[in-house]
Amino acid sequence: MRYDYLIIGGGIAGVTAAETIREEDAQATIALVSEETHPLYSRVMLPRYLKRKIQREQLFLRTEHQFTQKSIDLRLAQEVSFVDTKRGEIGLVNRAILGFKKLLIASGGRVKSIPENLRGEFSYRLQTLEDADRLFKNLYKITSPIVVGSSLISLELLEIFAVHKTPPVVLVRGPHFFREFLDASGAEILHANFRAHGIDAQYNTTVTSAEPKDNMLKVLTSRYSEIICDAMAFGIGIERNIGFLHGSGIECGKAGVKTNEFLETNAEGVFAAGDVAEFQDVISGKQHVVGTWTNAFLQGKCAGLNMVGKREIFKRVSSYSITNLGFHITILGECDGEGVEDIIRIDSAHRQYERFFLKDGIICGTALINRFPDKPILAKLIETRTPVGEYAEQLRDFRFDIGSIPVIQ
Ligand SMILES: Cc1cc2nc3c(=O)[nH]c(=O)nc-3n(C[C@H](O)[C@H](O)[C@H](O)COP(=O)(O)OP(=O)(O)OC[C@H]3O[C@@H](n4cnc5c(N)ncnc54)[C@H](O)[C@@H]3O)c2cc1C
Repeated sequence: MRYDYLIIGGGIAGVTAAETIREEDAQATIALVSEETHPLYSRVMLPRYLKRKIQREQLFLRTEHQFTQKSIDLRLAQEVSFVDTKRGEIGLVNRAILGFKKLLIASGGRVKSIPENLRGEFSYRLQTLEDADRLFKNLYKITSPIVVGSSLISLELLEIFAVHKTPPVVLVRGPHFFREFLDASGAEILHANFRAHGIDAQYNTTVTSAEPKDNMLKVLTSRYSEIICDAMAFGIGIERNIGFLHGSGIECGKAGVKTNEFLETNAEGVFAAGDVAEFQDVISGKQHVVGTWTNAFLQGKCAGLNMVGKREIFKRVSSYSITNLGFHITILGECDGEGVEDIIRIDSAHRQYERFFLKDGIICGTALINRFPDKPILAKLIETRTPVGEYAEQLRDFRFDIGSIPVIQ
């Protein structure tokens, strides 16, 4: 089979690209290959399913029939094993070969490898519907869970267990949660909230070994403590699915598939979008990956348009927001890099915190706790690269309204 457009990955980036192409080109042949067995579902909603706030059926965002109606050849449960850009072909694990004129890599990521000695019946992760189903099935019998890691998924896991009235122990490798975004004072606000929900957060601590003991799991930590648990859930971040690109000549960076601002890779006619794309960010000037739903959706759209011949630059301030244990946390833009300074304002009584990251007097990123209304204002300041150096002192004070800073148009 040869297709005009071939898409690897049936997540939100891949599906959005396929549908965008179809809107632009009614005649083209389009195929979407996904190793998962279901059509598109919402990863973002998996925690709500686990908290029993929604039914499993509500996770699904498309049916197979909807792909048929749009004449998109949906190939589920088919894993791509290689890409040959010279011949314009991909190979599947089932030994089939599919040809393409244009290719999109939207293969997302998977949970970082869990050490061999920590895998087993007590070990959980949360990336796919199967992961969620397995945890869902066992939640009723879990009484003393551990969460490992301090990622956004860890926060989700903490809340899932707290909602099920089994607040966990959480083991954090670094000195506090979200070391990349929060300083110690911001982390203390989070920590106090964990305590209020019965969560025992242990810092500078990793798991060194785990072995079964009386139908439970005995976990030894790097601080020589022993914890008896019956679930160990990992929120240790993801790595991008790029293994099948080895030898293809498609350039990969530190994390994902390198693209320019049009989401084009170095190989002609080959694009990348979503979690897997290490794209040229025209706002920050950096090449980086972003792991959010909205980013994947918008990149899928942008890549789809560019694949049919438009020239759309991908431009958006990266943003991740989460409501967790009654707190609202938002991370915007770039929070690290050479020459980046920070300004912090904090109102402990109201459990509010803002950390601004500035480079050359321009805000390049922020971390907010319980300051959601400031998000659009800050996104605008970051996007427009409005100089805020002269407000540096006022930014330390919550009485100063950041909305009063005139945005460069
Ligand atoms: C539990 C959870 C909660 C989240 N909550 C939020 C949130 O609140 N807000 C937010 O913005 N983001 C959230 N995210 C992140 C968000 O879901 C992702 O950024 C987004 O789904 C990425 O979409 P994608 O299409 O790029 O990749 P994916 O959804 O990872 O899709 C990639 C697809 O490609 C397939 N694939 C990979 N390799 C191959 C291959 N070789 N052959 C064939 N198919 C392959 C994969 O199986 C997968 O189906 C959450 C993620 C999880 C797991």
